[in-house]
Amino acid sequence: MKFEQLDAPGYERVIYAHDEVSGLKSIIAVHSTKLGPAAGGCRMFAYDDLELAKTDALRLAKGMTYKNAAASLPLGGGKSVIIADPKTDKTPELMQAFGRFVDSFNGQYYTAEDVGISVEDIAEAAKFTSYAAGLEQGEFGSGDPSPVTARGVFLCMQVAAKFGLGSSELRGRTIAVQGLGHVGMHLCQFLHDVGAHLIVTDINDQAIEEATSRFDASVVAPDQIYTQDADIFAPCAMGAILSSDNIEKLKAKVVAGAANNQLVDNTAGQKLHDKGILYAPDYVVNGGGIINVAAEILKISDAAWVNEKVETLATTTDQILTHAQTQNALPHVVADQFVDEILAKA
Ligand code: NAD
Repeated sequence: MKFEQLDAPGYERVIYAHDEVSGLKSIIAVHSTKLGPAAGGCRMFAYDDLELAKTDALRLAKGMTYKNAAASLPLGGGKSVIIADPKTDKTPELMQAFGRFVDSFNGQYYTAEDVGISVEDIAEAAKFTSYAAGLEQGEFGSGDPSPVTARGVFLCMQVAAKFGLGSSELRGRTIAVQGLGHVGMHLCQFLHDVGAHLIVTDINDQAIEEATSRFDASVVAPDQIYTQDADIFAPCAMGAILSSDNIEKLKAKVVAGAANNQLVDNTAGQKLHDKGILYAPDYVVNGGGIINVAAEILKISDAAWVNEKVETLATTTDQILTHAQTQNALPHVVADQFVDEILAKA
């Protein structure tokens, strides 16, 4: 395997690896180990070129520094990308080579699942490194993080409702859920259990059928979800959906959901604020998944540890939204400041 160090100011270590035998082309980006070893998933995507893959790896690695710190985890931020099409290029040999690449970081970086990478793929990588988490098997195997992510979103949504709607009570509220995947479906269950009304959308008909039969949810087309008469909008599909156009359409007074990188850019946060819509910062709200993975990395088998950490996400959201309200500041800016202070003290 050939390694090449990539130039990335502000990052601790960014390496590109190419293994001719398996065809692996991968980048591991370590943004910060100030709080502990860097942890963040591996994304497999058919990037058009190395530069695009590097840009994504850097952006995601820095995001993990912020997410891990906001979740009060003793972990830094890192991420990896594999340049390949998950539908056609994935082989056990490729994932094993990736495991060897992760191992070459000697514990400076822990990997796990992300878009395009399954539990089975991580299990292949784990044959060649002990720095892989998100496994089903093993003493500390943490399995699917999605139910924990959904619980965190639910708890933070209650807090956001307190600030944006005047009460944390979700019974009788209408929630528009975009995306009924691993997290979205679990979130719907939490919301249904407390008596919320659900308006849902997805591009997958099977998921729609499941949500209508289990939660008596109303269904709308994907492009109609923004204009619904809902109290809360919960993005649980793709990132970058809070664009100027979509914010213009939004009727909900609160945005709180699982999707990563919801704001298209910083002006989107301002636009939400100007429209009187309260935005619960995504990387705080969706930290449950990495908390679940962290228990495996830190070899903690106590479910109470995970539960307490997830509850802390709600406390942190409360602190951030209190500060934002009293200072008339943007919640996502306050969240970044909150993390910058943690990092400065470390
Ligand atoms: P998933 O792939 O299981 O689910 C996404 C769902 O969104 C799918 O059902 C898909 O059909 C649907 N979808 C895609 N495009 C859509 C569109 N245009 N309109 C409506 N629905 C659409 O993913 P997931 O694991 O549930 O994660 C959801 C989001 O939360 C992602 O952004 C992910 O990065 C983020 N997230 C997930 C976790 C976790 O624990 N899984 C943790 C943190 C953040």
